[in-house]
Amino acid sequence: MILVLNKNVSKSEIDVLKKKLRDYGYIVKEIQGVDELILGVVGQIKQDMRYFETLPGVSKVIPVSKPYKLVSRDLHPEPTKIQVGNVVIGGDRLVVIAGPCSVETRDRTLEIARKVKSCGALLFRGGAFKPRTSPYSFQGLGEEGLKILAEVRDETGMGVVTEITSPAQADLMMKYVDVVQVGARNMQNFELLRCVGRLGKPVLLKRGLSATIEEWLMAAEYILSEGNDQVILCERGIRTFERYTRNTLDLTAVPVVKKLTHLPIIVDPSHATGIREKVLPMARAAVAAGADGIMVEVHTEPEKALSDGPQSLYPEQFEQLMRELHVIAPVVGKQLDYDYLAKAAYVKDLKVDEVAVAYAGVPGSFSYKAAIQYFGEDLPLKNVTSFKDVFEYVARGEAKWGVVPLENSLSGSIHTNYDLLMLYDLFIVGELTLRIVHNLVGIEGAVLDKLKTVYSHPQVFEQCSEFLSEHPGWDLVACKDTATAVARVQREGNLTSAAIASSEAAKLFGMAVIKEGIETHPQNFTRFVIISRESLQNGPKDKSSMVFSVSNKPGALYEVLKIFAEGGINMVKLESRPMHGRPWEYLFYVDLEIDLDLDENKWVVDELRKKTEVFKYLGSYRQGAKMV
Ligand code: PEP
Ligand code: MN
Repeated sequence: MILVLNKNVSKSEIDVLKKKLRDYGYIVKEIQGVDELILGVVGQIKQDMRYFETLPGVSKVIPVSKPYKLVSRDLHPEPTKIQVGNVVIGGDRLVVIAGPCSVETRDRTLEIARKVKSCGALLFRGGAFKPRTSPYSFQGLGEEGLKILAEVRDETGMGVVTEITSPAQADLMMKYVDVVQVGARNMQNFELLRCVGRLGKPVLLKRGLSATIEEWLMAAEYILSEGNDQVILCERGIRTFERYTRNTLDLTAVPVVKKLTHLPIIVDPSHATGIREKVLPMARAAVAAGADGIMVEVHTEPEKALSDGPQSLYPEQFEQLMRELHVIAPVVGKQLDYDYLAKAAYVKDLKVDEVAVAYAGVPGSFSYKAAIQYFGEDLPLKNVTSFKDVFEYVARGEAKWGVVPLENSLSGSIHTNYDLLMLYDLFIVGELTLRIVHNLVGIEGAVLDKLKTVYSHPQVFEQCSEFLSEHPGWDLVACKDTATAVARVQREGNLTSAAIASSEAAKLFGMAVIKEGIETHPQNFTRFVIISRESLQNGPKDKSSMVFSVSNKPGALYEVLKIFAEGGINMVKLESRPMHGRPWEYLFYVDLEIDLDLDENKWVVDELRKKTEVFKYLGSYRQGAKMV
């Protein structure tokens, strides 16, 4: 049952109300909605609904008709994000859990851990208590296995996930692991569910072998009802009449679960298929379907594995999978970065009150999304009004980093930011790609035919030029950024105005999407860069950027390109643009696949300085698209 409270309800009224409800034995959750405060009331309801309506401070009572309450979206509309060390599950960054089926030996486990970490795995899995179908199969190393997992965490920084098979193991779990897994065979072991509900550690709850989604969510309800709302659901395939694969992966569970509950969901394609070759395609499909992450079994010698060898990936396959997920993630609005743990550790060292990341625009803008996707959810962000201010803040040390867009796949380079990079002594220290989906956003009830004015950023008009050309009568009004455009439409409250912005911005301002996906080409990506006064210490880099001009004589550019050709340096971008105030002279933007911060590559910069007129080294960083 949901109690919607009066808008002007006082803190003391809320406290009295909560106490009264708790005295009846109900579980009470306070939830801040978009513009109202609600109380979720769960338990065996003893009174008539009308009784609750009469309580002071209550404006409305809404019954929750579903059998699961605490896990339901009705009660908690925002997605739950679960923190495991520095890793967040359920946010914008994909979480990959990898490792062997069972912890076999210390050396083998560490070998696999190092490998999966180098490919970008964030959490490590490995069973120490194995629920095997046959009593004669390997049953796991028990506490010794947990000790090995703890060693993996200490060495690699990856949090560890392992299965609990009995409440008797609770103390051991508290001592050694970060996420406790309840396996498919135990999904309806209610005593175990209650036990992990009291553990106060994140729980990975697998779907039972033949459990319906409702039964699965009811199992999660057990855990939440004990006070633990850190539950990650894991779809791992169900029993069907199909025998070709070990189980049948029910991918529809991903969007279904996302709608029904606020809890994050990940997919385990290893147990779902049981066949190594089928793991990659199903993992890709899981991410495309909107899963918050995946859990896969990886082994360095699967033929010798003590359990689940046939479904364990070779390390090379895992590496390939990570590369593929890296490409798919931005398409579905997420990121998969290979240096998440290093960045997160760096970010954690910041003082809490330090303004860490400056971006231009307001929450809901694409720059905001880029900042969150690159640095994670908890970082202090500072929104400023222009790209120039981003540079100013970083240059003055008032922000440690800045996030600015540099180029778009439809509308080209953002020259303002290249100019600012020339002007300020700052470095590019990272990059990320966002897929940009534009929507026409208006107030509730606005329709396409009645629109007269459309607000957005000029670059956005360019990216939607085809759609806009179908509506030549519209007045296009430029705004600083897309979220500001939405705010303006909301403020004016006019049915004839709309903004072009992301669906997140629409949601944030409580606005309706009139038409989805109006960008000229769906392959619309913007590359953002992270700027800083100093380099981000996140391991070796593989990309460098620069701007230069050459003298106006034959072969001048050729002389520069020769340096790259002879040095065997791959050039991934070359763009020219006219120089301000010097007609017919050009600046060149160049990106190279090389770490120019390394001493052994300093000669490249020396040579470039000799062969160019203006030369500005912009920095070396890790390519978003490559693991090192
Ligand atoms: C496992 O993850 O090792 C496992 C036993 O999975 P499931 O419970 O899904 O069979
Ligand atoms: Mn297994």
